[in-house]
Amino acid sequence: MAAYQLAQQALAGEFAARWAETLAAVEAREIAGSLTELEAEWSAAVRESAAASRVLSIAFYRLVRALETGRVIGGPGYRPGASLGSLWADFNRATGKRTGSGPSTALPMDTRDPFPAEDLAREARRAEETFRHQVADRVAAHERERPARHGSSALDDPALVAWEKEFAESLKTGSTGAGGMLVQDAGRDAIHAALQDDPGAIGYYRKTDASPCYFCALMAGRGAVYKSKRTAAFGAHPHCHCQAVPIFSRRYQLPAENGKFSRMWRDFGGGSLADWRTYYSTTTKT
Ligand SMILES: [Zn+2]
Repeated sequence: MAAYQLAQQALAGEFAARWAETLAAVEAREIAGSLTELEAEWSAAVRESAAASRVLSIAFYRLVRALETGRVIGGPGYRPGASLGSLWADFNRATGKRTGSGPSTALPMDTRDPFPAEDLAREARRAEETFRHQVADRVAAHERERPARHGSSALDDPALVAWEKEFAESLKTGSTGAGGMLVQDAGRDAIHAALQDDPGAIGYYRKTDASPCYFCALMAGRGAVYKSKRTAAFGAHPHCHCQAVPIFSRRYQLPAENGKFSRMWRDFGGGSLADWRTYYSTTTKT
C-alpha cells in the first residue's frame, strides 16, 4: 500500500520542516542559551505529528482488515455502521488524499479493540530523552570544545566558521532523523501491537520507501513475517520510512520491490552483512 507508506513519510517530512524552521530561527551560537525553547518546540512538533501517525495507522489497519476479511474491527475511531465506504473515507482523511472508495453497506463487526492505549506520558518521556541525546548533550559537548578551538582567532576565522556550520548541520541531521523516527514509531507501534492482539491477523510485510538502506532491503526481501508468540521488533532506524503492512489472509501480494530485493539477495549468494551492504550499494547505484 504505497499511499499509506507515502502518507507516513509525509508526516515525518512535516515534522522535519517544522523543526528545520525552528532551528533556522536560532543563531548557532545561541543554541546553548535557547535549549528550553527549542525543547518545547521539539516536543510539540513530535507530539502532533506522532498523533497524526497513529490515527493514520489505525485507519489503515482497519481498512486493510476489512478489505481482506469483510469485517470491521473496533477501537479508536470506530463508528457504528462502518462500511468499506466509510473506512476509505477515514483513510483518505488521514492521508489528505482521495486514494479509494467503497460501498456504504454496513460490515459485520468484531468488538475487540487490538490497539494499545495511547500512553502520552511515555511518549513525552521518549521525546525528552531523544532531545537530550540528540541536541542538549551534543550542544554541551560542542560548547566545551569551543574555547580550545577558538584560541586567539577572530570570530570570523574561516576554520571556526566552518566548524560551527558543520556542527549545526550534523545537529540538524541527527535530530531530524531521530524525531522522524519517533513520529513514525507512533503509527508503527500501533500496527505492530494490534497484530499481536488480533486473532484475525497472520503477520505483516515490510513496505519500504523508494530507496531503502541495505538493512531494510534485506528485511523486505525476506517477504512476509508471520506472527508468533514472540514476533521480533520491527527494526526501524532514523531516516527510515519503512512501514509494516498487516496481513489477514494468505492471499496477500507483496510489493514489486520486495520481490526485487529478494532476487538481489539470491544473486548475492551469501556472505556477511557487511558484504551484503557493499553488494547492495554497488548494485543499486548502477
Ligand atoms: Zn527502513
